[in-house]
Amino acid sequence: MRAMVVDDSKAMRAVLGRMLRSCGYDEVFEATNGVDAFRAIRDHGSPDVVLVDWNMPEMSGIEFVRRARSSGLIDDASLVMVTSESSIEKVMEALESGADEYLMKPFTQDALLEKIELARSRH
Ligand SMILES: [Mg+2]
Repeated sequence: MRAMVVDDSKAMRAVLGRMLRSCGYDEVFEATNGVDAFRAIRDHGSPDVVLVDWNMPEMSGIEFVRRARSSGLIDDASLVMVTSESSIEKVMEALESGADEYLMKPFTQDALLEKIELARSRH
């Protein structure tokens, strides 16, 4: 299975990448913001699961989710927002924009896996 991690923090990309690989995602590619994520999708094809940070330069996570969903580019991918934005309004905005699930930082590997499973069952 293929996953993409979109986060401007190198440390966060490393943590998420390690967690994904340890639970069977043999192909994990990374992007540093929304613009970079579209480039990565063009280069690697659509992933099965996308983990997206909210606050990033150039193109935010929420903007990426909106554009990715409205373009149909990643129709088959499950999308999880992974962010420290914790207000109900932000959660609702993410889900209404096309995210399948929402995970708040900091998180455990179990919580991440649970959200991915939920996102995959829901999508
Ligand atoms: Mg960030």
